[in-house]
Amino acid sequence: MLEPRSAVKSLHAYRPPLAGRKGLRLDFNESTIGCSPLALARLRSLDTEALARYPEREPVEAEVADFLALDAAQVLLTNGVDEAIHLLCSTYLDPGDEAIIVVPTFAMYALFAQAEGAQVIQILSGENFSFPLEELLSRISERTRLIAVANPNNPTGTAVAPEVLLQVARAAPQAAVLVDEAYFEFHGETMLNHDHGEWPRNLFVARTFSKAYGLAGLRIGILAGDARQMAMVRRVASPYNVNAVALAVLPEALRDQEYVERYVAEVRRGRTALEQALATLGLHYWPSHANFVLVSVGPAHAEFIQALRARGILVRDRNADPGCEGCVRLTVGSDEHTQTLIDALRDVVEATLSRNSIVR
Ligand code: PMP
Repeated sequence: MLEPRSAVKSLHAYRPPLAGRKGLRLDFNESTIGCSPLALARLRSLDTEALARYPEREPVEAEVADFLALDAAQVLLTNGVDEAIHLLCSTYLDPGDEAIIVVPTFAMYALFAQAEGAQVIQILSGENFSFPLEELLSRISERTRLIAVANPNNPTGTAVAPEVLLQVARAAPQAAVLVDEAYFEFHGETMLNHDHGEWPRNLFVARTFSKAYGLAGLRIGILAGDARQMAMVRRVASPYNVNAVALAVLPEALRDQEYVERYVAEVRRGRTALEQALATLGLHYWPSHANFVLVSVGPAHAEFIQALRARGILVRDRNADPGCEGCVRLTVGSDEHTQTLIDALRDVVEATLSRNSIVR
């Protein structure tokens, strides 16, 4: 009988809770207003020929490299950051290797590393989800072949200084060190700052167009790294991993920086307003550098989420994540959508509080 590899048999399929997502969707850290109208117009202008042809990634890759002030050989466009993670795991991990992640974090690092038969070492964040640098450094061994860090992190919204991540990269030259900057635009700090000096050969940076650019449905992301290492990663990537529609739209989306900047400013403003509202309601939250805020509501988390859903707002239960008992993640969107969330939170906290089930 045909059997999958044993590493695959031990995986649990990742199923995002997509069904029934009707309402204001503040559960997936998507943009709540969508992409630039210029990008949408480009999409609408595509003709049958554009779809009949195999997509050409390289010319767009060169534009993206220019935008990031990198060489084209350092940049690979990917089918979202998800694929970038998958490719790194395929390129560097053998069965029995170790992959280090700091938890709680984005689920895909562990999933793709385990699929290669690697052993995933989870290091719990410090107090208030601080980055456990010393612990991480102490767990690096010659078997460590991947270290993945989301910066800012999901679901906590916490960030770590690029210098600290450089220290990690330098301490593990035998490992691919991935800094996932999916939420970079809402934070502003990056590893791609040339003031950091020479790029460590084992450092990779990922970016996405799923969040600030409002293009999660197109599935497009960036993996950047040392040119020699990127040549290896390219070997395992499909030449047509990014579809023609995404490649046609991306240059327009990049050109309309004004649109992205306006949305990012709105999200940052909303994040402050949401954090202030949570403080006023007496709820504990973790100050965020991304387009979401993690809040602790205690044992009433499921009831809290249901109550928001009844008011047409979807948010994400993070109770099962390590160190996140009773926590819920709230995406920050446009001014209007954040205000809708804040109004609903006031109602829900009052209603749930009157039954004494929210921990403050
Ligand atoms: N990295 C992190 C930290 C994320 O939170 C997410 C999406 N939730 C992704 C990557 C996925 O990005 P993409 O849509 O580009 O695959």
